[in-house]
Formats: sequence, C-alpha cells, structure tokens
Amino acid sequence: MPEIPLTEETLTVAALSEAELLARIFPRLEMAGTHGSATLLGPGDDAAIIAAPDGRTVISIDTQVQDQDFRLQWPNGYRTTGFDVGWKAAAQNLSDINAMGGVATSLVVSLTLPPDTPVSWVADLADGLTAGIRELGATDCSVAGGDLGRGREISVTVAVLGSLAGGNAVLRSGARAGDVVALAGTVGRAAAGLALLEAEAAVQSLAPAQWALVEVQCRPRPPLSAGPLARSAGATAMLDISDGLVRDGGRLAAASGVVLDLDPAALKPLAEALRPASDLLRADPMAWVLGGGEDHGLLATFPAGVQLPAGFTAIGSVQAPEGSSHPGVTIAGHAVGTGGWDHFAD
Ligand SMILES: [Mg+2]
Repeated sequence: MPEIPLTEETLTVAALSEAELLARIFPRLEMAGTHGSATLLGPGDDAAIIAAPDGRTVISIDTQVQDQDFRLQWPNGYRTTGFDVGWKAAAQNLSDINAMGGVATSLVVSLTLPPDTPVSWVADLADGLTAGIRELGATDCSVAGGDLGRGREISVTVAVLGSLAGGNAVLRSGARAGDVVALAGTVGRAAAGLALLEAEAAVQSLAPAQWALVEVQCRPRPPLSAGPLARSAGATAMLDISDGLVRDGGRLAAASGVVLDLDPAALKPLAEALRPASDLLRADPMAWVLGGGEDHGLLATFPAGVQLPAGFTAIGSVQAPEGSSHPGVTIAGHAVGTGGWDHFAD
C-alpha cells in the first residue's frame, strides 16, 4: 500500500468538496492501468459508455454496509481497512460474472460515507478496488464510473458488467443425473477467518496460518479463470458459493431438479485446511466447509467423463431425486440441512 502523509490521517471527507474527493479517488482507480477495452467512455461525464461486444451484457450488483457486512473494528482487535472493503467489493462482483462463465468488463461504484470518514480510508478503498481487479486477474476490466453521497454509515455498492464473448452462459438449472459435482477455489476459509475475527483474542497473537484464514474473509480470492474454463469444458450448471456449500448447492439442486450427493472423503481435506482456526476455537471445521460462504469458490457440474478444467476437483455426483426425496444436497446419501452435518465431522 502507498505511503500516506501524516497530515492526511486527520483529514475527513467533510473537509473536501465532492470534486476534491473525486480528484483524490480517480487517479487511484486509473492506476490499474488503461481502461478495460470495453470502456468506450470512462469517468467524467454524466454516464459511462461500455461496449457489449456480442450484443449482450451480463450484469450483477452487490452492496456492503458497515455493521451489516463488515465491522470497522472486530472483537479480536483487527480494524477493517478501506483496502479490505474495496478488494472485497471487487471480488464479490467479479465472482458473480465468473459464475456465469463470463468475463468482467467494467465496474460502477456508489459510495455512501459519513462525514467523519478519513480521506485516507477512502483512498485506501480505491486502491483495494484497483488491486482486487488486477490481482484477481480481471485484466481487461476497470472502474467506469460511480457516485458519492453522505450517510450515517459506510455503504459500498458495486455493479459489474461482463461479457460472454459469444458463448452461452452457464445457469444453475442445467445439472443432470450422472453429472460430476466439482469445486474450484476454496470453501470454509472465510467463515473460519470470520470466527477468528469474532473471537476476543488479541489480534497480534494469531499465527500466520490463522492470519491466512482472516485474509480470505477480508480479501477473498475467487478463482476468476475457472468460470470461463468451466463453460468451455461444457459445465452443465454453475454458481459461486457466497452463502455456503449446502445452501448454494441446494439452490443449484433446486433449479436443476436434482440431488447433489457429496463425497465425505472429498470434503475431509477441505476441513483439514481449517484446523488452524478450529483447533484454536475448538470448533467443528466441517461446519465451516458446509455452511461458510464468502470464499466465492465455484460449484459446477460437468457431464461424466469430461476432463475437469484446471482448478476443479470432483466432490460428488448428481443424482435424480428418488421416491419421496426432494432436490437438495446429500452427503453419502444422507440428507443435510443446517445443523445436519455434525455426523460428518470426522
Ligand atoms: Mg453469486
């Protein structure tokens, strides 16, 4: 992160006009490099102009509100930086385009800020957005415009536009009995990190392996190349796991009218990766694997026999609902609901 002169630490957004604040934000957004190639007209006019190369636009939007989606200060002492919030806003939105099999072309940002927000925090947010876009691999994407307003708490809304580059989107509804269920990216780490943030232990005492989990909560790393690769490989259904493997898997299962049966042997290593947090907090790591969201891993189904694209691991199979069973998620044939996963902890 860039050095911020000490005098900037005490400067709040109330001391600047909107134009002055924008003048401090724009250069940081454009430090990402050139505009994405789809941005025909960027910030500065009443509206931006974005190309839709194949005549279609993939669009999604996501909001983070202070004290709802993040806290400025956590019980363990960690202070959420503007960089964290900016990165996460980029990650969440880019992930939704990834989950359709598309590639993001531009972001539009709306910031609501209390007057006492330090200008340095807002500058940091712009840096986090830029870093998120670039480091997560959305190489041809940039912030095309936005809006600033005042309010009682910080609220960050980002809309994302994307392209399918002539291909078909991968929906939630295409999974068929016999398909393979596969995962790209991680699951449960952001939830483990959240539990560490909410634990009242001094933040300095966390070991590097525990910090790594907190980092996934604060700055998730969705596997952005995996979505288009899955689409090319013939994925039949896909979504990103933002609310948890069982809950999001249940949504895909319901949309497709199928059962996703997960393999406990494939889930176990996912839980093992969470040991640094679960051992400290005496928690069940499998609960985070099955119920934790926000890593923004991709859950996809592929026809049996298809070679899974790079980054994907098989974690189960798609089955037709039998008898009186409903579409949903099972583990080795056992129904799972919220709380029903305890049997599979070991
Ligand atoms: Mg999503």
